[in-house]
Amino acid sequence: MPLSPAALSRLVALRHDLHAHPELGFEETRTADLVAAVLQEAGITTHRGLGVTGVVGTLTRGNGPGRIALRADMDALAMPELTGLPHASRTPGRMHACGHDGHTVMLLGAALELARDGGFDGTVHFILQPAEEGRGGAARMVADGFFQRFPVDRVYGLHNMPGLDPDEIAVVEGPQLASSDRWEVVFTGEGTHGAKPHLGRDPITAAGAFLSAIHSIVARVVDPLAPAVVSACALEAGDFAALNVIPDTARVGGTARAYAPEVRDQLEAELDRIARGIAATYGLTAAFSYRRGVPPVVNDPGATAIALGAARAALPKVRTAFPPSTAGDDFAVFSQEVPGCYVWLGNGPAVEGALHHNTRYDFNDAAIAPGVAYWCALVRADLRA
Ligand SMILES: [Zn+2]
Ligand SMILES: [Zn+2]
Repeated sequence: MPLSPAALSRLVALRHDLHAHPELGFEETRTADLVAAVLQEAGITTHRGLGVTGVVGTLTRGNGPGRIALRADMDALAMPELTGLPHASRTPGRMHACGHDGHTVMLLGAALELARDGGFDGTVHFILQPAEEGRGGAARMVADGFFQRFPVDRVYGLHNMPGLDPDEIAVVEGPQLASSDRWEVVFTGEGTHGAKPHLGRDPITAAGAFLSAIHSIVARVVDPLAPAVVSACALEAGDFAALNVIPDTARVGGTARAYAPEVRDQLEAELDRIARGIAATYGLTAAFSYRRGVPPVVNDPGATAIALGAARAALPKVRTAFPPSTAGDDFAVFSQEVPGCYVWLGNGPAVEGALHHNTRYDFNDAAIAPGVAYWCALVRADLRA
């Protein structure tokens, strides 16, 4: 049944409170206190401390064997807020610019409704995850034994999306968000006088050749039908105060993104091969490192079918096609362990053009009721009574 006006206004007030008090990853102590208090008040067994500030609420109805997890992220970003709203951030340099305040509140709303009305048979774990924004909150919860303590058959996630209506949801099988990895190469040659390059080994020329060569990876190695990005984003060599000196080293770094594990492996292998090949060509050495960040979010067909049924039961507008994002979400750390489905819930038109991570972004309160309705329908669809 739909949220009562009283329940909805409570959630809106809670959302504004969280928005006014944003906390960065692993520092969400106030947020976690509020979250735990709401869960406990509803009689939901509450576990704290997974992933430092993470909270897991566990709710069982009946004796069905099914076990699922719903995940919301709680963290804010280290940036100023310029919305000028009454509930704008009261902490300078901290802002809920990705709508995680809304994610937190929608999951709590669903927990309250499900604790009160049931309508499912099995166990649902509500994951209130810290540190989604690049600080590795999901990995920390998993390292702290999430799947041992809370074994689940499927895991579900949701993110707000400007451009879709607040009662509109996109539920799409397959890739949703890219893997996000960092790479770095240091070319080491032999520094020399800029006027006598033949007496040394020039790492800057090698770095230049490397920078052009890496764009052949996506163009010539990766399947043209498989999306991938390789970008060099940092370059460091020499000194502008010494323009007659060829330095010993040149350092290049960047990002690599893909939607398929095999493409991700290709990007790592090819960057390494080109770094070594260029080093050999120019008679230098190359030290290559590749740090894997979050894996891609790829929606499982079975979990997506369940989510789609729930979305159609709960919301008037359901899309089954929506372009994947080249951003990442560490929800993937959960959904690479068990089948998962990650959906996009509308946030209405982008107000003044502000998108995620913009100083004027705000979660749309009109999405709270649809979000709660989706979560409740999903639990009742997956753990059918
Ligand atoms: Zn974000
Ligand atoms: Zn986000």
